[in-house]
Amino acid sequence: MEILGEKKFRSRQIYEWLHVKLADSFEEMTNLSKPLREKLEEHYLIWPLEMLERQESKLDGTNKFLFRLQDDNVVESVLMKYKHGNSVCISSQVGCRMGCKFCASTIGGLERNLSPSEMVGQIYQIQKISGERVSNVVVMGTGEPMDNYDNFLTFIRILTDEHGLHISQRNVTVSTCGIVPKIKELAKENLQITLALSLHGATQSKRQSLMPVANKYDLSEVLEACDIYFRETGRRITFEYSLVAGVNDTDEDAKELTAVCKSRNCHLNLIPVNPIKERDFVQPSRQSAEKFKNKLEKSGINVTIRREMGSDIDGACGQLRRKHAEKAEG
Ligand code: SAH
Repeated sequence: MEILGEKKFRSRQIYEWLHVKLADSFEEMTNLSKPLREKLEEHYLIWPLEMLERQESKLDGTNKFLFRLQDDNVVESVLMKYKHGNSVCISSQVGCRMGCKFCASTIGGLERNLSPSEMVGQIYQIQKISGERVSNVVVMGTGEPMDNYDNFLTFIRILTDEHGLHISQRNVTVSTCGIVPKIKELAKENLQITLALSLHGATQSKRQSLMPVANKYDLSEVLEACDIYFRETGRRITFEYSLVAGVNDTDEDAKELTAVCKSRNCHLNLIPVNPIKERDFVQPSRQSAEKFKNKLEKSGINVTIRREMGSDIDGACGQLRRKHAEKAEG
């Protein structure tokens, strides 16, 4: 504001318009004078995300959104309604280069990183469109947040800023496939967000067969980084484990997974794999998933099976965006 020859306090007003009142244009900022709004228009850009598609689950009220970015790339985000509040799952990149075998988001590779504003923008637009207050955010959509670290951090600071939406850090979860140096860096940022590690295999070789990133970082290093995160932040780690029938859901797997979880203060989230049409991974039956869970529970592990949300819409990671891409390719 000082550069524009304006009073300093105007910046606070603009910040509030952008991050609390969620304005999409300078025109809306009615407590600024018309000449100032015109000046802002001339020097700065606001690029709101544009909603292309919205799917609403009839089963549980889950909403899936497809947004268009300024350069015509598209990203998807999900709004999930729980008793304890509304949770939004956002994307952190356009596409992904991690190559996990069962994931639809990575099939076309990485297009580009999302900017901090494109990350908060997903939440802002969902809050505006749905009229629902968002209380929880999970960075579990398309992309690997630790592969877009600096933008991710800026995003967290804006999202949890007391002058913005002020979402509690404890209500934010970031999920990573296990980029060791970045987990260690995040541990030192003095944040209270929850770290979720995509484990998916409880041994190095099993992990390698599902996740190429395991070729770079050994399971022991990944677990050590998680231990450091817990030590530095006091936040309990969540392990995510996508259950794939016949691949990682045997008795042997349960035993190995118990060994990993037993010695740690952690929560284990079992996700029956969402089959995607490009791959032939099979979801275990409800019964067999329960059996797997009970085995771990008996050993005193804190374990849940993730409730499937919005199974009547393109709910699984990256499926809506892929469908859109295929339509565009004709
Ligand atoms: N790149 C990050 C966050 C995005 S994916 C990560 O790897 O953690 C969020 C979670 O969904 C990850 O645990 C991922 O492995 C899992 N996931 C991806 N595709 C899936 C599928 N088809 N079925 C079940 N879980 C899946």
